[in-house]
Amino acid sequence: MSETDPTCWFCNDDMRTDPPPGGFLIDDGTWRAGHAPASYAPLGTVVLEARRHVLDQADFNDVESQTCARVTGRLVEAVRRATGCDRVYQWATMDAFPHFHLWLVPWSLSDDLRGPRFLADRLLHGDGCSPAEAEATARALRGALSAPAVGEHQPGDAVAVRPTYSGG
Ligand SMILES: [Zn+2]
Repeated sequence: MSETDPTCWFCNDDMRTDPPPGGFLIDDGTWRAGHAPASYAPLGTVVLEARRHVLDQADFNDVESQTCARVTGRLVEAVRRATGCDRVYQWATMDAFPHFHLWLVPWSLSDDLRGPRFLADRLLHGDGCSPAEAEATARALRGALSAPAVGEHQPGDAVAVRPTYSGG
């Protein structure tokens, strides 16, 4: 079985008409992740995708199975740090392409909707964010990913100050 599908958005970069603003934040051979294209989702939304053409966790290989939770956790924490959100919602339907990809969408207590209504409103009907905001947030996400993970702080470390979330 082929590891990639040339007709798939996630497998074939020529099919991907909207590359991630600011480039991929993670690209380790097993996973790639980047800020969602600006018009697709709220500011700070990250999409994690398998490098291999695989539908879901049932067909993950050993490496994918062993690393999925850790890479997801790193990204969830980075979204929290970069946006100052209260929760990071997770959404995966594989509707358009049968290739594993997980949306990580920041949500805050001050948002007008919550739960699935928030996701449907913002991902199906929202205007997303501006390309410049998305690129700036991608830089913040990159910085957050390179910072020590939770639990790795040493005594005396400066407390990270969360940047202000500008909404969207
Ligand atoms: Zn694919």
